[in-house]
Amino acid sequence: MDFGDGMETFDKSFTQQEPIPEEGVAAALEVLRHGRLHRYNTVGDEVCETALLEEGFAATVGSAYCLAVASGGYAMGCVLRALGVGPGDKVLTNAFTLAPVPGAIASVGADPVFVETTENLTIDPDDLSKRARSSGSSVLMLSHMRGHIADMEALAGLCRDIGVTLVEDCAHTMGAAWNGVPSGRWGIAGCFSTQTYKHVNSGEGGLIVTDDAGLMARMVLLSGSYMMYPRHRAAPPPEAYEDVKWITPNVSGRMDNLRAAILRPQIERLPANVSCWNALYRSVEVELAGSNGVALSHRPEAEEFVGSSFQFRLPDRSASEIEGVVASAAERGIELKWFGAPEPRGFTSTHASWRYAPPQELPRTDRVLSTLLDLRLPLTFTVDDASRIGRILREVCRGGAGGGH
Ligand SMILES: *Cc1c(COP(=O)(O)O)cnc(C)c1O
Repeated sequence: MDFGDGMETFDKSFTQQEPIPEEGVAAALEVLRHGRLHRYNTVGDEVCETALLEEGFAATVGSAYCLAVASGGYAMGCVLRALGVGPGDKVLTNAFTLAPVPGAIASVGADPVFVETTENLTIDPDDLSKRARSSGSSVLMLSHMRGHIADMEALAGLCRDIGVTLVEDCAHTMGAAWNGVPSGRWGIAGCFSTQTYKHVNSGEGGLIVTDDAGLMARMVLLSGSYMMYPRHRAAPPPEAYEDVKWITPNVSGRMDNLRAAILRPQIERLPANVSCWNALYRSVEVELAGSNGVALSHRPEAEEFVGSSFQFRLPDRSASEIEGVVASAAERGIELKWFGAPEPRGFTSTHASWRYAPPQELPRTDRVLSTLLDLRLPLTFTVDDASRIGRILREVCRGGAGGGH
């Protein structure tokens, strides 16, 4: 788009991923040529791509075990089911999260209990204690939504103190850490997504990590291992399955070798990609820092985040003013998502749109989300692109050049 007046615009897609690395393409072709896509279809002592992916990812995060599954949502549901969460149970989770999180809770028949969000987009610990007590829930599905990580020492300590089992939803924190401990390693299990819009891309897919042998044995069986579980590598020895193999249902949700083949080189590249994402993030941040009326997230020293998306708030603006900002940004090629819209749009829904869950009062979250804007930073952007996005946003947010349409 050309405004013909020297005003900057942007024309790249906010949803364009990088290509799959050539090693991944080659490995995928090999799987296609030999035809053994199912993880348990191996010849001789062949080790399948899926088992190698699990072994590699467990080593990356330092967990004893890893299970590759069909999606991030399946990963969360599988952990909950393996923990014994069932119909009528309550599961605590962030009020600010994405639809698959309450969906995974509902998939085992449980009810989500939403916990308030701070202005820094992390879970509110006081509200967590309060709602744990009032609901009687003993499980927290902690969603590191948009990559914002709470003080994990404090939160894990609080969960221990109040008798709540911590499970992490790391869909936006693959490759991140708090104080040197990888995200996904703070509770009993960590769930990851390998869906196209996350930090590695196999179209669909999920990974679960844990150090708990009994939990992993139940999850391997749940995922649909039949009696093939001895072929897993990042899993406990066959003895761990003896008692549970008779009583654990098969809820098929395996990953296949084709997806694992394209994921393995991406897991190796993750640290380098994290640096690229953070360079993009910092380039937007530097342009917006100090802008009047723009509230940026505080990122603590201990938070080793992955800046694959960027959030900011316009706390003094009304709903119609924010709609104006979104529209002005769109005219100049910047795709902003607003979490305050009354109707869910695209990927952006809120607790109020999940009406299968009991209605809950979340005034603090509503206030935060009503002025929260979000944009993606795919790796197909350069640092110059990110700076340009930051400059355009600074202008549309002050309602100056280009903001007045
Ligand atoms: C994407 C996502 C998931 C998992 O999604 P799948 O599409 O099922 O892989 C979980 N939590 C959050 C916050 C997400 O954004």
